[in-house]
Parts: sequence; C-alpha cells; structure tokens
Amino acid sequence: MLFSGFIMGAICIGVMLNPWVFRPGVVFDTRSVLLSVAGLFFDTNSAAVATIMAAAYRLYLGGTGVWAGVATIFVCTIIGVIWRGKVGRRIENLTMLDLYAMGVFSAAGMLICQLLIPWPTSYQVFSNILLPVIIIYPVGTALLGRLIVDRHTMARTRDELAKNRAMLVEVLNSIPQSVFWKDTDGVYRGCNRAFARDTGFDDPDDIIGKTDRDLPWPESDREGYRADDREVIEKRLPKRHIVEPLVKSDGRRLWIDTTKVPLLNPEGEVIGVLGLYDDITERRRAEAELLKAKETAEEASRAKSMFLANMSHEIRTPMNGIIGFAGLLSRSNLDAGQKEYLEVIRSSSRHLLEIINDILDISRIEAGKFKLEMTSFRLADLVKNTVEIFRPAAVKRNLTLSTVIAPEVDREVISDSMRIKQMLANLVNNAVKFTEKGVVEVSVSQAGEEGGKTLVKISVRDTGIGIPPDKLAMIFESFYQVDGSSTKRYQGTGLGLAIVRSLASMLGGKIDVESGIGEGSRFDLILPFEPGKEPPAVAAEKESAPALAHEMPGPGLRVLVVEDDQMNRKLVSLYVSGRGWDVEEACNGRSALEMIEKKKYDVVLMDIQLPEIDGIKAISTIRARAPREANFRTLIVALTAYALEGDRERIMASGANAYLAKPIDDRELYRTIARLFNNRPAAER
Ligand code: ADP
Repeated sequence: MLFSGFIMGAICIGVMLNPWVFRPGVVFDTRSVLLSVAGLFFDTNSAAVATIMAAAYRLYLGGTGVWAGVATIFVCTIIGVIWRGKVGRRIENLTMLDLYAMGVFSAAGMLICQLLIPWPTSYQVFSNILLPVIIIYPVGTALLGRLIVDRHTMARTRDELAKNRAMLVEVLNSIPQSVFWKDTDGVYRGCNRAFARDTGFDDPDDIIGKTDRDLPWPESDREGYRADDREVIEKRLPKRHIVEPLVKSDGRRLWIDTTKVPLLNPEGEVIGVLGLYDDITERRRAEAELLKAKETAEEASRAKSMFLANMSHEIRTPMNGIIGFAGLLSRSNLDAGQKEYLEVIRSSSRHLLEIINDILDISRIEAGKFKLEMTSFRLADLVKNTVEIFRPAAVKRNLTLSTVIAPEVDREVISDSMRIKQMLANLVNNAVKFTEKGVVEVSVSQAGEEGGKTLVKISVRDTGIGIPPDKLAMIFESFYQVDGSSTKRYQGTGLGLAIVRSLASMLGGKIDVESGIGEGSRFDLILPFEPGKEPPAVAAEKESAPALAHEMPGPGLRVLVVEDDQMNRKLVSLYVSGRGWDVEEACNGRSALEMIEKKKYDVVLMDIQLPEIDGIKAISTIRARAPREANFRTLIVALTAYALEGDRERIMASGANAYLAKPIDDRELYRTIARLFNNRPAAER
C-alpha cells in the first residue's frame, strides 16, 4: 500500500513543478487538495509517505513561502486523516457534501498557513488568493473525492460479487444431489460438481453452452428430459419426483429421482429450468428386493394356507366315515362297555373334526378364500337357537345359561348368518368351557347407528376363570392360549377367537373383551346390520315351525345315492336304508344318468366331485331331460365334502333342490328329504 503513497507524493511534486507563482518564492498548486484526499482515503503510512515527499520537495524549492507551503502540506493531510476518522469504514457512504466540507476545511487551513509568510506579503497573498482558494479548492476536493468513492464502491462491489459467487459455487458443490440449470432453449448455463462428474466434465463450468446432445445419453432418455423441461417451462410449475434412468459418463445406468422447477427473472418471465436429482438406484434395488421377498413370503403363506385347507379337506373325508359309522354302530346292540368305548370314539372324532374345521377356516381366511354369504334372517332366532346348542353342556356343569334380547333388535337383518352363528358358538363354547360355576349370559342390544346400518352388540358374559389383563390382547392371536402348557385343563386349539376376530372385521365389526382373573369375562361382538325384509306373517310362522314336523316319507321311497367314495357311499346308503327306504348306488355321474333312464327314483343324493360326469353336470342333465322324460323328474339333494366359496350358488343354479355339506348328519338328511318330499309339486306326488 505504501506504493500509492509514493505515487501520490510524486504527483504532488509534479503539480509543484508547474505551480501558480504568485510572486517569486510564493507558489500555489493543487497539492493541498491531493494530500487531504490522500489523508482521507489512504492508510496512515501511505499518506505519511506522500506528505513527507511533498514537504521535502517544498523545502528544497525554498523561498519566502517555504514554511507556509510545508505547513499547508501537513495541515491538509491532517484534515484528511481527521475526516477519515470521522467517516470510519463507510467510505461508500461519503456524500459530495462531506467531501466539500473537507475541501472547505483544508482550504481554510491552507489560508491560515499563509500567515507564516512575513508581513505584509502574507496579507497580500491572503487577500489575493482567498476567493479563488475558498471557491475552487473545495469543489476540486469534492470532485476528486467523488471519483475515488465511485472507484472504491465499484471495486468493493466487484469483490463482494466475486465472494458471493465463490460462496454460491461452494454451496452448490456441497449439495449431495446433482444440480444443473438450462435456458429455455435447453442450453446448459451451469451445474454443480456432482452433475459435472455424472456427465464426465472435470470442471462444472465446462457444461456451459452444451446441450443434452453433447452429453453421454441415449436418444430416448434425452427426449424424456426435454419433454419434462418443456412441461415445466410451459406450465411454470415445478415437477417433482420424476423417476427416470440416467446413463453416467462411465456407462453405468442409474435410476434417478428428479425435481425440475422453472427459473424466473426479476420480471417473472421464465428464463429456464433448474433440475436437481438423487441417485435412487440402490433404494430401488432394495425396494424391488423387499417387494420380491414380500411376494415370496405371501406366496409361501398362501401355499401354506392352501396346503392346510387341502389337507383338512382330505382329513374330513375319512373323519366322516369314522363319525358316521360310529353313529350307526351305536344304534346296534352293544353291551355297556362297548357303548362307552364307542362314545369315546365318537366324541374324540367330533372334537378332531372341530379342530380340522377351525384350521380349515383360519387357513381359508389367511389365503383370502373366504367369501361371505349375505342373507336376510331373524337375528334373535339365530342367537336363541345357537345358545340352545350349548344347553346340554351347561346343564351338565350346573351353569345357568340365559339369553336376553332387547326388543329393538328382534327383527330381520341382512348379514352372513352362518358366520354370526359360528362366532357366537365360539364365544358361548368358550364361556361354558372356562366356567366352573355360575352363569353364562348372552345379551343382544342396539349399540347405535353407523352409515345407515344398525350397530348391534352381542355380549357373552360368564362368571368363569377370567383372563389376566396382560393376556387380553394375545388371546385373539392364532394358536394362543392363556394356559398353553402340556398339562392344560381345557381342550382347544387357540384358533376360535382368531377366527371370531377375522370374521367380525370381515363383516365390518369388531370384538372387545373385558376380564380379570377370577372375575369372569365379557366378550362384546359389535356388528353392523342392514335392515332385512320382514317376511309376511304367515310365511314366518311356517318357517319357524320345526323342520321335523314335516311328515317323513314312508318305507319304499326310491333313493339313488351317487357317490364315488366307497365308504361315504356305504354310509349314506345305510342312513337311507335305516329309514326303511329303498336305496341304489351309482359311483359316477354317467352311471347315475344311465340308471335314471331305466328307473324312476324319488330322490337322488348327488355328490358333487365325481369322476367322468361330475355332480353339477349330472344335475343339469337331469333337469334338462325332465320335461320330456318322466324318470328325470326327481328331487335332487347335492352332497359335497366342503362348501367352497361360490359352490352353493353353482350347485343351486344347476338345479339341485337342496344342498348338504359333509359330514352328512343322518337327521339333517332325513329332515331335508322330508321337507322336499312334502313340498314337491302336486303333479309329482
Ligand atoms: P381355544 O378356546 O380353542 O383355546 P380360543 O381362541 O377360543 O381358543 O381362545 C384362546 C384363549 O383365550 C383360550 O385358550 C383361553 O385361554 C382364553 N379364553 C377365551 N375365552 C375365555 C373365557 N370365556 N374365559 C376365560 N378364558 C378364555
């Protein structure tokens, strides 16, 4: 910086070389202006260098005005320095007035210094130069000062701009995402280092002036990028999360998540587009793997559920045989011991069948193969009938079993009656099972309205052993039992409540429980119901009359049993003949049709899964031939191993008069045949 001091010193000497000579030895020049300006703008050392150089030269010139001249030099510099002290660092804020004022002071200082010239010359000098000095010098100081302030401001602005730019570049380069910006013609105007790396440039500035065509991208990708740019520019709206491919300069193909925003100038016009993207290749791969793992797991779970469903189905067939034949056996002449053994066989097989049914249900629910069948029914009747099933067990244990039904819920509703029965049976079964003494009470009441449906609360309360509070949430999990030990006192699989919970949620409802050890339990099933159609009073009476009231057909009823499984065929035939009815057997649909052609049967009991011609086909053929051939006018009861989703509709649509799910209960079979027989059209009686 001392350098500027030397320059200023030299300029002062220069102006002294060509001064205004008032008289020999008394000279005037612009050094006072220059030095006050140096004092103001230069640092102290530089100002001192300029001052000393000027003073030394003035001393060298000598003459009458030498001391006045030297003093002027010092005074003006000092005034400049004082001004600097006043202004501080705010040089760019200096106004013309500030500068002019400093000019006035240094001119005044200079005039006062003239008094150092011997009298009367000093007076003459003073009066001669007063006017020009006091007018010209301050103006000169103000103009020169302004020039310097402007230069200073410009330099400072340039510095700041450079600093800001450097900062901006630093910020952009620190962003982990790749950032770029283009003008509306698709020409790159800048980018950060990450983007330069992706596109193969060492320096981000190298991208300037390039277009997508200059970058290592396949044509198809390039078109996609450009289309997005255009959309952002036209709509003037950001476009977020564009997941697209990007080929890096090293040939690697990435997946990126890009956001593009329009770039606007201060007038609000779109001047380009700014893009920013993240490399999501890893994330996408992880997601894809996760999805695959999830699908595999789901597939495995479905396969497991299907396996369980199939296996349970297969186990049911021999179970039917065991239960059926044990039932027939129990009606034969047995001694007391044999009867007792047989009873154990029957109850164990029934229990085993219940377990299999539960496994089948839960696996069908998990495999997503469970469909609801909505019908209109009377809720109060369903609850009462279901509870009655448990009366014998309750009586055996000395329990009071009661049902309380609020009058407002005693009406027709629409829901899946079979599933509601199943849920209630599970709850009542548990209540009876886990209660040693006291009561089991089932109550039904209205619990509000929801979306046009009535919410009904079915509560099953008992005074049994209760459930520890910390186990309450777990009892609804599959296979969970509070006492899961090998020495547990209560039989069960731990599936009942899991099924109840799944069914409740499938029906749009829920199940809650309140319990405590030794305090009994209360399970609240809350379900939404649509109102059903109230049947005409007469019909209702007829419906509610016990089915067994139908007159049983007498001996000689001609029944054809169509069943491929030998054991089941035998069992059903024994049921039929047990009633004194005539029975004949066919083991597939084809031979059944041949037999019907030759002989008229009153009832055909038709299995559905049959070789060659299956049950549905056989039933449709029978119905199709009925108008022309009298033999084919017969009652048909379909029998199937398990009611798979949609089976019921298919079977009934084929023309069956009734439908029975295996295991066939002999009394149910008799009831069904009696009902159909009594209700058959008069022409066929
Ligand atoms: P399961 O009865 O076949 O064991 P559930 O799923 O029906 O299976 O019930 C799960 C468990 O919840 C039962 O094992 C029992 O520990 C508990 N539990 C269910 N109902 C009651 C009840 N009314 N009183 C006491 N404990 C109960």
